[in-house]
Amino acid sequence: MPRANFGTALTCIDGRVHLPVISWMRDMLLVDYVDLVTYPGADGLLAGDAERATRLLKGSVDISVQRHASPVLALVAHHDCAANPGTAEAHRDQLLRGLRTLQGWNLGVKLIALWLTEQWQIDVVRTRGADAVVR
Ligand SMILES: [Zn+2]
Repeated sequence: MPRANFGTALTCIDGRVHLPVISWMRDMLLVDYVDLVTYPGADGLLAGDAERATRLLKGSVDISVQRHASPVLALVAHHDCAANPGTAEAHRDQLLRGLRTLQGWNLGVKLIALWLTEQWQIDVVRTRGADAVVR
């Protein structure tokens, strides 16, 4: 059996988010499976308290990246977030600041910031880091 390809998403706990994110990552990044690391309003935590975010979330991301050899980590924010309410503009700003936190983790993977719109469509806010994601 060929080895499965994994990707990683760092996202809110909100159940409306997971399926669109998984579908998009499978289609656009050609991964077979998406490991989900969830935290309520993850973008707000990553942007606002890098130290706490690292303490709470980095261990889970490390397992996905190291044990599953995931080459890509998506940070996801979404419309109508109960844990981290705010405008789309505020979330986009948090996504960009959150990416800077993730860059500090030195994971050696591609980082992508995704915004889920009111229609639950994926909007790519920013990508950076390692190339060669598409296999
Ligand atoms: Zn949320």
